[in-house]
Amino acid sequence: MYRNFKVATKSLRHQDLPLCLSGKKLPMLRKDLIVLLRNDSMDLVEIARHLEVPQKDAEDDLKHLIKSLKHANDRLVITPAYCRKCDFEFNKDKLHKPGKCPKCHSTWIQGPLFDIEQKS
Ligand SMILES: [Zn+2]
Repeated sequence: MYRNFKVATKSLRHQDLPLCLSGKKLPMLRKDLIVLLRNDSMDLVEIARHLEVPQKDAEDDLKHLIKSLKHANDRLVITPAYCRKCDFEFNKDKLHKPGKCPKCHSTWIQGPLFDIEQKS
């Protein structure tokens, strides 16, 4: 009898765990992203941290954002990633931070920065 009681308590405790672990994307994420980047320029790591999503999700959303902003009043400005050691500038089409500098092999890299500004 006592043992049964113990089991019941244990399973109850499990219910306290966060239920939402599915990683389902929230539709308002992109809106938050626009607000975030209007105020400040950020790289992917910072965006993911601010929106509390995985970097992969932040990257997907950025790609969608670039497309959807084409006909809007805002535009996304991308500052390409660069090597902090030798100033080598990476290609603009990569949104995530490169692992290594092809020129000096340094890993001290600043990832691409994203910024939203209003079209004039
Ligand atoms: Zn370098």
